[in-house]
Amino acid sequence: MLNRNFDLDIKSNYSLEKSNTFGLDIASESFFIVKNLKDLKNILSDNKTKKITVLGGGSNILFTKFLDGLCLKIDLKGIDIIEENKNNVVINIMAGENWHDFVQWCVNKGFGGVENLSLIPGLVGAAPIQNIGAYGVELKDVFISCNTVNIKDQTEKEFDKKNCLFGYRTSRFKTIDKNIYIITSIKLRLTKEKHKYNISYGSVKQEIGNREINLESISNAIIKIRKSKLPDTNILGNCGSFFKNPVINESKYFELKKKFPSLSAFKVEKNQYKISAAWLIEFLKYKGRSIGNVGVYKNQALVLVNLGGATGKELLSLANKITSEVYYNFKITLQPEVEIL
Ligand SMILES: Cc1cc2nc3c(=O)[nH]c(=O)nc-3n(C[C@H](O)[C@H](O)[C@H](O)COP(=O)(O)OP(=O)(O)OC[C@H]3O[C@@H](n4cnc5c(N)ncnc54)[C@H](O)[C@@H]3O)c2cc1C
Repeated sequence: MLNRNFDLDIKSNYSLEKSNTFGLDIASESFFIVKNLKDLKNILSDNKTKKITVLGGGSNILFTKFLDGLCLKIDLKGIDIIEENKNNVVINIMAGENWHDFVQWCVNKGFGGVENLSLIPGLVGAAPIQNIGAYGVELKDVFISCNTVNIKDQTEKEFDKKNCLFGYRTSRFKTIDKNIYIITSIKLRLTKEKHKYNISYGSVKQEIGNREINLESISNAIIKIRKSKLPDTNILGNCGSFFKNPVINESKYFELKKKFPSLSAFKVEKNQYKISAAWLIEFLKYKGRSIGNVGVYKNQALVLVNLGGATGKELLSLANKITSEVYYNFKITLQPEVEIL
């Protein structure tokens, strides 16, 4: 069989420093920018024995060591309206589109449903991986399906919403089918009229103030709040929330609440409470603390930061230190939201 690697611009020993928002200077054995489906299938079939790592915007990955194998940076572009009526619009978005730019495109066109997800970094193809969410909205609320290519045999498969097994910051692509599929596009249904705005978060309501509630004012309010709370990745390397908020059962919650009356949590379903991981970390006095080249952001205890020149191992060691102290004090195991490689 013809080896097409010669036709494709595969880079060797490629620095990923500009490809991850922690700003870590880690290299990949080989690196390829995927611009079309044909190249994607060809490169996968020509590199069957290599470990494949899929990369979007690198805003949810912590690289801790040299990346063996082939790193595929997804750069598939295109946004198409495929169905439209008076009330709804169905849009197909290719995986390499920037998520926030897509949200702004929707806001400008008057398509509702993703405005609360403004300013989440990264690319469209990664959005289903952890069912991105913010300010009371998750991707699953507008999701119809996604198209994928199987890494092993290059077959294409479409997964509908039910089959994606979405949950809080999770999906089948993070669990039972981890590292099996590459998401190439997603389909979303957005509203044109009678949109139900979600301003359930007090801070969003407050930021909008007396302004009219519409897609633009919600998006602008959320952009403003996020900019004030989260560090700019161009200035201070980070991946947003490093940990997920743990969900515990009612008896464990009551036990903790008795011991720590100011514990911050809310009921998610019958007998289940979501605990604020930020509260746990702040309680242990980590907020604003730095250890060598890494630290916990001063305005948000869930965000680990590269203070300059950090290594992935240093960040991992801080994450492990926090995890074990949280466990020691609260008997809760924090789970990382970030993919650790
Ligand atoms: C400042 C900041 C704020 C953030 N705020 C939020 C927030 O509010 N809510 C939230 O949910 N997340 C948030 N995040 C996390 C992050 O933005 C999201 O998880 C985002 O979807 C990651 O996109 P990415 O393209 O950068 O993915 P990457 O970091 O490149 O990849 C993440 C994972 O998805 C896999 N992957 C990426 N693309 C594909 C693909 N096409 N097919 C298959 N697998 C793929 C990767 O292999 C990796 O395992 C934040 C991050 C930062 C830096």
